[in-house]
Amino acid sequence: MKLFKSIMAVLTAGALMSSAASAVLAQDKGAVGIAMPTQSSLRWISDGNELKAALEGMGYSVDLQYAEDDIPNQLAQIENMVTKGVDALVIASIDGTTLSAVLQQAADQGVKVVAYDRLIRDSANVDYYTTFDNFQVGVLQANSLVKGLEERFPDDKPWNVELFGGSPDDNNAFFFYDGAMAVLQPLIDSGDIVVKSGQQGMDVVGTLRWDGAVAQARMDNILSANYSDGSRVHGVLAPYDGLSRGIISSLRGVGYGSGDLSWPIITGQDAEVPSVKAIIAGEQYSTVFKDTRELAQYTAQLLDTVLSGQEPGGLDTETYDNGVKVVPSILLTPYEVDATNYEERVVASGYIKAEELQ
Ligand code: BGC
Repeated sequence: MKLFKSIMAVLTAGALMSSAASAVLAQDKGAVGIAMPTQSSLRWISDGNELKAALEGMGYSVDLQYAEDDIPNQLAQIENMVTKGVDALVIASIDGTTLSAVLQQAADQGVKVVAYDRLIRDSANVDYYTTFDNFQVGVLQANSLVKGLEERFPDDKPWNVELFGGSPDDNNAFFFYDGAMAVLQPLIDSGDIVVKSGQQGMDVVGTLRWDGAVAQARMDNILSANYSDGSRVHGVLAPYDGLSRGIISSLRGVGYGSGDLSWPIITGQDAEVPSVKAIIAGEQYSTVFKDTRELAQYTAQLLDTVLSGQEPGGLDTETYDNGVKVVPSILLTPYEVDATNYEERVVASGYIKAEELQ
């Protein structure tokens, strides 16, 4: 909280400064291009809308684009923004490593670049990174999984748990997985958890483009190859709600959630409306809530500070090395959400309206 306040103080000081452009017109502080990955997930829609509103409120013009998880499409959108002469780019990349050339062009033109939520790797031309504590997201998921296993299956040790990872071209996916395995690996080593499929490691458990259908198909295969002998799945580490929903469909297909085959403990991330509903219904055990409204506000403040010619303070300069340099970062706090606290975390905070969950 202290850090939050000090960052806000520094960022706000910058926000009060007027940029060269604003001398001309109050509503003409400059142009910002926002490149978002996809509208297939609710969080990115809300990130885009929040960022756009915040920046427009500060007097910037905004070009907001979605690339529907198509890498060449996102590249073309960013090239177009740079050609049009934006002052800054906010990029939630699909595959950040494909952007090196356009980021060089941006740097040559003095465009400030913020990697939004997802770090852009292997480029010196990334000025800032705004995100959540991604390792902690994985820790929260795994702690929640273990808590659920102890609650629902106290006498069933060893627990059969299957592991899913996010998209291997998204740097976050490795942080989520590593955070989760910091909790789960000791339990696998001690024999409390068994991964019956034997599938471990991001090279085998990754889910390209965070695609729920891919996760569903992999779960189908795991079930038929490893659980046709009468054994049951007790838990699934799923790093994102969209994957959790695919995994739930697969499990439902072989009878979980009906008769005496209770649902395994299934994790998630993003507190998406259909998944919070699934938590209320007892199908999914938990999710991780990241308040994207906060992320958007911080990012807009950061940009305003920087575009006003100020040096932002209070940034983390240790955690995120993108392979070329440590990118100064703002790291916000994620929270575990389950049936016991969703009202307090996501409804009372106004992130989801109570009616949306009916
Ligand atoms: C984000 C997650 C999201 C995932 C899939 C990650 O980069 O940090 O919040 O669940 O992408 O969209």
